[in-house]
Amino acid sequence: MPLDAANLNARFCVVGAGFSGAIMARGLAEAGMPVLVIDERDHAAGNCHTERDAATGVMVHRYGPHIFHTGNRRVWDYVNSHGRMRPYVNRVKATTGGAVYSLPINLHTINQFFGRTMGPAEARAFIAAQARADITDPQSFEEQALSMVGEKLYRAFFHGYTRKQWGCEPAELPASILKRLPLRFNYDDNYFAHPYQGMPQDGYSAIVASILDHPGIELRLACSFEDLEEGFRHIFYTGPIDRYFRHEQGHLPYRSLRFERFEAQGDFQGTAVMNYCDEAVPHTRIAEHRHFAPWEAEGLERTVCFREYSQACGRNDTPYYPVRLLAERRTLSRYVERAGSEAGVSFLGRLATYRYIDMDVAILEALEAADATVAALREGRAP
Ligand code: FAD
Ligand code: UDP
Repeated sequence: MPLDAANLNARFCVVGAGFSGAIMARGLAEAGMPVLVIDERDHAAGNCHTERDAATGVMVHRYGPHIFHTGNRRVWDYVNSHGRMRPYVNRVKATTGGAVYSLPINLHTINQFFGRTMGPAEARAFIAAQARADITDPQSFEEQALSMVGEKLYRAFFHGYTRKQWGCEPAELPASILKRLPLRFNYDDNYFAHPYQGMPQDGYSAIVASILDHPGIELRLACSFEDLEEGFRHIFYTGPIDRYFRHEQGHLPYRSLRFERFEAQGDFQGTAVMNYCDEAVPHTRIAEHRHFAPWEAEGLERTVCFREYSQACGRNDTPYYPVRLLAERRTLSRYVERAGSEAGVSFLGRLATYRYIDMDVAILEALEAADATVAALREGRAP
């Protein structure tokens, strides 16, 4: 265990250079505490990493499309203090049954799907008549969908996509997964409802690089936690919690993603994200990354796209989505208990807490954890 709690002159260590780790490191460094940040990848920024595609020059989100959105002013100001955010609204399209619709389900989707010309009130009553009124307290994804939009829209937009995405029946998944998506009875097709939304002009990696750019921070890439030998005053760990404990309570399952890259001339699909809801189509969506940076797209001759396939996460795959079914929740609570009594280590971020959290949540939690740590250190308490 690379821990040297007795030596108060020793450095702090942050494992993982994603948003969570970078923000914690910055908070410590600004308070005068030197920090070593390590990441086993050859780049910082974690799953938000962006890079220029060598062949096309397009700014690519290597681990899948990332759109920034938040309702929190502190988070918005923080990212803006480390890079320029450009206006960007996520407008998702979905192909199902041979037609293209707008997501999240809104008045346009409803009218187009049912071949109607309803106004908001009429559409609301129409969908209420389709929805399963007998499901008053939906527990599963399927119950949530049926009680929200009824059988027809559920089958067209959610059933096949969700089976592909999660590799199980929607009836086995928690309702919370679908509760991320709104249902609108107007023509608002903004995928998110948050007041602050945007895309970093120079990519997310430039923002994380700016956060890590402090004389008190040393960044060591291609270095895994398991290979560290030196001692530290305290460790902030943002890797997978089951991996930290050498999977002693079992593996926490994840869904992984496989990206199939292809190039085309000009504009391939005319939009950033096209979902494929039919189960017969093996991929869940195609992302065309030039549309995430419309201010750069003019004049680009070639375009680069990624077909996204969801799959079970093998030992050598990247963990993306935690699969929090009932059995996993029990395993997780055993790890959480272990983590609570682990001296000299704090667990932070998406993988260490085994939650699917958006960037703004990861950023806010890291800012608050850094505040609490610095306050504790100033009062002479261990973090
Ligand atoms: P990560 O970014 O995962 O960083 C953890 C880092 O720790 C990684 O770099 C990893 O290499 C390193 N690490 C792990 N274990 C070790 C070890 N043992 N030794 C050394 N290094 C280690 N959020 C949004 O707000 N908007 C979106 O549109 C959005 N889209 C997403 C799309 C996909 C496909 C996915 C999977 C997530 C998406 N998210 C989105 C969520 C976003 O990716 C996370 O909120 C964010 O990455 C969390 O940051 P983090 O630092 O906690 O974790
Ligand atoms: N979903 C779906 N069809 C779609 C888009 C989403 O069935 O066209 C389901 C799917 O199960 C997904 C969930 O709704 O996991 C939440 O959607 P979101 O866009 O938030 O997915 P994520 O950002 O997790 O990829």
